[in-house]
Amino acid sequence: MAGSVKAVVTSGIGMTSDRTRARMVERLRAAGITDETVLSAMLAVPRHAFVDEAIASRAYDDSALPIGWGQTISAPYIVARMIALLRAGKKLGKVLEVGTGCGYQAAVLARVAREVYSVERIGQLLEKTRARLWPLKIRNLRLKHTDGSHGLPEAAPYDGIIVAAAATRVPEALLAQLAPGGRLVIPVGVDEQQLMVVEKREEGFVESVIEAVRFVPLLGDTA
Ligand code: SAH
Repeated sequence: MAGSVKAVVTSGIGMTSDRTRARMVERLRAAGITDETVLSAMLAVPRHAFVDEAIASRAYDDSALPIGWGQTISAPYIVARMIALLRAGKKLGKVLEVGTGCGYQAAVLARVAREVYSVERIGQLLEKTRARLWPLKIRNLRLKHTDGSHGLPEAAPYDGIIVAAAATRVPEALLAQLAPGGRLVIPVGVDEQQLMVVEKREEGFVESVIEAVRFVPLLGDTA
C-alpha cells in the first residue's frame, strides 16, 4: 500500500517538473536562445535534481540558487547563453568546465559535447556533486578536485573552455589550452563583470564582450 502511494507521488512530481522544465525552455526561447541543441539538452536534464530538496520547487525559476559553501547554481538563461556561445553552432569535441558547483551545467554540457572535464576547487562540494551525478551515469563526464584557474593541462587542448566564476582578467593558462578554433567563455571583472568570448584563430586570439553578468569570484588554490 505504502509502495503504491509512493509511486503515485513520485510520478506526480515527475510530470510537474517535466512541464515546468518545458516552460523554462519556452522562456529561454523567448529570451533569445535559438540553439536547439542547447534547448533540447536543457529540456532533458532534471535541474531540480541538482539543488537541495528544500529549494527544488524553485529550480526552474530564472534565477541563481544557493548550493552551499557560499556558491550558486547559475540561472537557466546564463547556462543556456554560455553553452550556446561555446558551441557557436558547431559540434563540440572536448570541453573543460571550470567550477563544477552542483554539476548542473556539466550535465548539460555532457549532452552537447563528446567529452567533458569539469574541475572544482571545493573538495566537499565536489564530493556531494559526485554522489548526485553517480545515478545519472553520465559516461562522458570526468570530475576533478583542482584549481581550474590553471586549466587542466593533462587533458588539453580543448575545443571549448567554459568558466563558471568571474576572473579578474582572462587567465593565460586557459588560452594556452585551447585547440585551434577553440573558444573560451568566461566572465571577467570584479564589481562590474562582462561575459567574454575569446576565440583562438590562426591570426591570434579574438575577444568579444557579450553582456554584463554577475558571478561568484574565480579563486586560486583548492579548499
Ligand atoms: N557550473 C556550476 C556553477 C557553480 S558556481 C553549476 O552548474 O552549479 C562556480 C563554482 O566555481 C563554485 O562551485 C566555485 O567553488 C568554483 N570555483 C571558483 N574558483 C575556482 C577555481 N579556481 N577552480 C575551480 N573551481 C572554482
